[in-house]
Amino acid sequence: MRISQLLLPTVKEDPAGAEAASHKLMVRAGLVRQLAAGIYVYLPAGWRVMQKIEQIIREEMDAIGCQEMLMPVLQPAEIWQESGRWDAIGGEMFRLKDRKGADLALAMTHEEVVTWLAAREVHSYKQLPQLWYHFQTKARDEARPKSGVLRTREFIMKDSYSLDVSYEALQESYRKHIGAYDRIYQRCGVDCMMVEGDSGMMGGSISHEYMAYAEAGEDEIVFCRECGYAANVELALAGADREAPAGVPPAGEIETPEARTIEQVAAFLQLPARAFCKALVVIAEPGGGGEAGQAAPAGPAAAGPVMVLVRGDHELGELKLRRAFGGEFRLATADEVAAAQGVEPGFVGPLPTPLPVYADEALRRGAYVAGANKPGYHLSGVTLEQMPQARFADLREARPGDPCAHCSGELQGARVIEVGNIFQLGTKYSAPMGATFLDEDGKERPIVMGSYGIGLARIAAAAVEQHHDDNGIAWPATIAPWHLHLVLVRASDETQRALAEQLYDELPTAGFEVLYDDRDMSPGIKFKDADLLGCPAQVVVGKRAGEGVVELKQRSSGERRDLPVADLAAALRELLA
Ligand code: ATP
Ligand code: MG
Repeated sequence: MRISQLLLPTVKEDPAGAEAASHKLMVRAGLVRQLAAGIYVYLPAGWRVMQKIEQIIREEMDAIGCQEMLMPVLQPAEIWQESGRWDAIGGEMFRLKDRKGADLALAMTHEEVVTWLAAREVHSYKQLPQLWYHFQTKARDEARPKSGVLRTREFIMKDSYSLDVSYEALQESYRKHIGAYDRIYQRCGVDCMMVEGDSGMMGGSISHEYMAYAEAGEDEIVFCRECGYAANVELALAGADREAPAGVPPAGEIETPEARTIEQVAAFLQLPARAFCKALVVIAEPGGGGEAGQAAPAGPAAAGPVMVLVRGDHELGELKLRRAFGGEFRLATADEVAAAQGVEPGFVGPLPTPLPVYADEALRRGAYVAGANKPGYHLSGVTLEQMPQARFADLREARPGDPCAHCSGELQGARVIEVGNIFQLGTKYSAPMGATFLDEDGKERPIVMGSYGIGLARIAAAAVEQHHDDNGIAWPATIAPWHLHLVLVRASDETQRALAEQLYDELPTAGFEVLYDDRDMSPGIKFKDADLLGCPAQVVVGKRAGEGVVELKQRSSGERRDLPVADLAAALRELLA
């Protein structure tokens, strides 16, 4: 491709409000343009990257026997009503009506269509297992589209689905996908880690997320170097502290005038935050009962005010509390706290309380200081043994520095981008939608399903996050828009032009994808654009063209050397390997 004819609008300025390096660089390098909030146009160079990622994914899906097909974006409401997600999903789903007034949805994901299809086309155990996939646009009305193509309202996903006769058989489909996903990320040059995930709107029980390391990531994981445990902080398990809090004063009321927050009381009593038991009043929303297939370990909460206890130095994990309740909740207002507990929020404590109590596991042992339910007072020597009604659950957010729950190691933290997510759905969709098969004994059973997603744009953006410098992107060779960027230094120089044209003709026949900067522009601008766009190799045709010598530069290391044209193909092959 000749740059003189290519739509490659590079710009010097970062897009307004952009923070993520991938957002800035993908716009500046002329890869994407934002049409509206969370809606992007892929320009030719950007689309080439997407197609390369797509092809790598396709090869790995085909290699595990997954069959490519195409399912529609526009879908009738009925299938979503049958699965229960028409009501379960809120504002994230784009809904519309056709000219006859019938309800339709734009696909957020394709479990419903897959299950609809399986219900009609799969009848016998002899047809199973099946693995199906497609590349298709998903539409989600994200609350906060941001960070360029990392979180958009329309995006392309590879989603695959497994259909099996049993949970045991599902493990094999799941295992195959894990192998394929490992190879996909590795081939795309994206360094990531598989962690335990939350099943969220997909339902089911077991799920894993693929997390690419990046400062711009919205997610946080903790992991243990000793035993390899890794999970999203939202649901990561932290180990018990090795020592109990010391120095807690003997049981009794303590006057703590004007000290309300844990920090204030801790400073006033000269105790560490971990010596405190923090009491929060939340309102469990009605109609909880839990996401289908997800048991609430501590038993579902009745709607209304609930007291939640975590240690003073711990933060409540919202997802964990939702799981414990089996439903949604919100923080109580000061008035609601006063009505429920008879005291203002700063002095709320568990002894006594008329409310149902959920306590974090860390509080099972030890004595703490807590609010005394009396303005201006705290109570020391509070142990939860005094509260037989307390239900214990893992409620606190794990954080770096916590002990590992699985070995003697310590948890470390990292910011990450979720680039993929795999789910064991079980019969969450097949049961309500009637996707059954006849087993060997002629008995009708629901198909056991799995679903597996990868966002193409997130791989591209994660690759940029992990491979860039101050001058621009340094693409992994496998997903770069072109293998090499051929720079003609002086367009007016006949010798240089002749050699550049010759290379532009010949290199593709040797299997190289060439982007040719044939423009009559200052060399400085051309070099800047080459670094910004980030093709892995740059071939510069300049002063030594007369001798048949060009300069080869590796974008990632900046290393350059002169070499005769005859040696170029071999050197390029080595550089791109
Ligand atoms: P998130 O938690 O980041 O909102 P999700 O868990 O809702 O994502 P999934 O339903 O698991 O996403 O979708 C599978 C994959 O699709 C994700 O791992 C991600 O790579 C991609 N993806 C999801 N939402 C978006 C989005 N808004 N923009 C771009 N890619 C997305
Ligand atoms: Mg996900």
